[in-house]
Amino acid sequence: MKIGVLGVGQLGRMLALSASPLGHQMRFLALSNEGYSSVLGKTFTHNNNPEVIKKFADDSDVVTYESENIDIKIVNQIRKTSKVYPSDKSLHLTQHRAREKDLLKKLNIPCAPYELVNSISDLKSAIDNIGLPAILKTATEGYDGKGQFVIKSKSQINEAWKKMSSAESILEGFIKFNRELSIIAVRGINGDLKYYPLVENSHHEGILRLTIAPAQKISKSLQKKAESYMNSLIAEINHVGVLTLELFESEDGLIVNEIAPRVHNSGHWTIEGAETSQFENHIRAITNSPLGETAIKNKYNAMINIIGVHGPTNKVLKTNNEYLHLYDKEERKNRKLGHITITSNSQEELQKSIDNLKEYLP
Ligand code: AMP
Repeated sequence: MKIGVLGVGQLGRMLALSASPLGHQMRFLALSNEGYSSVLGKTFTHNNNPEVIKKFADDSDVVTYESENIDIKIVNQIRKTSKVYPSDKSLHLTQHRAREKDLLKKLNIPCAPYELVNSISDLKSAIDNIGLPAILKTATEGYDGKGQFVIKSKSQINEAWKKMSSAESILEGFIKFNRELSIIAVRGINGDLKYYPLVENSHHEGILRLTIAPAQKISKSLQKKAESYMNSLIAEINHVGVLTLELFESEDGLIVNEIAPRVHNSGHWTIEGAETSQFENHIRAITNSPLGETAIKNKYNAMINIIGVHGPTNKVLKTNNEYLHLYDKEERKNRKLGHITITSNSQEELQKSIDNLKEYLP
């Protein structure tokens, strides 16, 4: 099939790399002349020209996206002539933090207390209701900790609101968590549903640095709990493709931080670590093919992000159980340039690799 991807970043690139052995061809829709996936498929650069968007749609049998921060007008135009997965419900939901939280509340899925904030007086009253510390986040477009401000004292109110540039925001109560976890599910057009195991994520300045897969010390009931939250969400939005839930593990159990209607950075370990990667399973899902097994291959896996500078990548190439994935991007502060996956049957060996790659971890 001809698969169109909205966006030309690393997620589209890795979707293309997994679609190729299945005999698919890729198309990419880029806003302007940048992009790192273009070598992997025909790229349509639209600069908001509807004619180019139409050509892209006409040349794709099915269209998907690598980010929820995309222009819904473009998606709606494409939807008139082509199939787009995940559904518009998935996209609409995850484009706005308050909509996302409202749905979680409706489905009785725990999330941080929150209030919509459109002015400094809204912010003051939200702080009175939620308390401090709290996090102010732009309602739309935020990712990797961008558009966020942790408010610890009332003296920071003006500074925090300024950081949002008057954009609609939500104030969230600060969750005291023990660990950050995530779970990835994949659902086919025919309703088949599979889950990857819960993984543990460590962030620095809002950016994911390290994933341990599977997360250690996870009871069967915790995995089932995370899967049950996924079940409710997927049934509600009729999701097709990969869906990710970012979670906090707290004293009160699992609390959902965010929903991502797409392949996710915390699932990159699946490329070498699982029977079928999240990328291949997303492609299988949207092309109505049977889903692949999501079981882990080796007992212990990790993923380390390469952020800002490429660092000593040859070290990775020289080591048997470490795998290098670079995204063909130029170095820039806080930019995701690639990742390293590590897979092993021994926890000691996994830890040795992580220690050996400490340059990549803050
Ligand atoms: P986000 O972009 O919403 O995923 O947030 C980025 C990171 O900020 C998360 O991975 C957490 O480490 C932290 N964070 C976000 N929201 C909260 C919260 N309500 N309470 C505590 N930490 C949070």
